[in-house]
Amino acid sequence: MINESAYLKLCDEVINYQAKIIAVSKRQQTEKIEKLLSLGHRDFGENQAQAISGRFETFGSRANWHFIGHLQTNKVKSVVPVSHLIHSVDSMKVLKIIEKEAHKNNRIVDCLLQMHIAEEDTKFGLDESELYNIIDSQEFQDLTHVRICGMMGMATYTDDDIQVGREFRLLRKVFDQVGETYFRDREYFKELSMGMSGDYKIALKEGSTMIRMGTLIFGERQY
Ligand SMILES: *Cc1c(COP(=O)(O)O)cnc(C)c1O
Repeated sequence: MINESAYLKLCDEVINYQAKIIAVSKRQQTEKIEKLLSLGHRDFGENQAQAISGRFETFGSRANWHFIGHLQTNKVKSVVPVSHLIHSVDSMKVLKIIEKEAHKNNRIVDCLLQMHIAEEDTKFGLDESELYNIIDSQEFQDLTHVRICGMMGMATYTDDDIQVGREFRLLRKVFDQVGETYFRDREYFKELSMGMSGDYKIALKEGSTMIRMGTLIFGERQY
């Protein structure tokens, strides 16, 4: 795991770009999370419904729990009450269920729309036309308990920095367009979640506001 001075240096680097770190704690030991909390870190990410619920039970509101994994419709019910921000919304169907659960919980749920920018088909997210179809729809405009705070994406897993840069740039472009066209005041629509341990420097240069960082902070995950 990262030591204190390296952590502070990393924070400085990210803050210089007006971004922040979401520490991805999936499959990591509780003690490591405690350690990071003691350094003053607050934002953590989990990619599975069961895992984020477990973390919430353990740490509660000592941390902000971000849901970053693919969200299945049958998991929305358990994810909504424990999530600070859901990064990975990729269908109108999921949005409608979030709306329903948010209403039941009497709260507004902050969400990002995930766009598919990678070459791999295994990664999730909306393509550009699916994205606009959702935003243009009446049912989207009728949502009252969902707050769209920005967008998220994952670049291709490759050593080709030029390709990764191109993919992040596309996401940034769409994010800017959607912001200007549909969320003009930009009061809430301002987060761009892109970049992980291997490509965060590129993501920062391309305008990320949230880096989802796992192994660089906690070390290798346990399987
Ligand atoms: C695991 C994960 C990360 C963090 O990956 P690292 O390479 O360990 O930084 C970021 N985003 C998502 C969606 C993940 O599932």
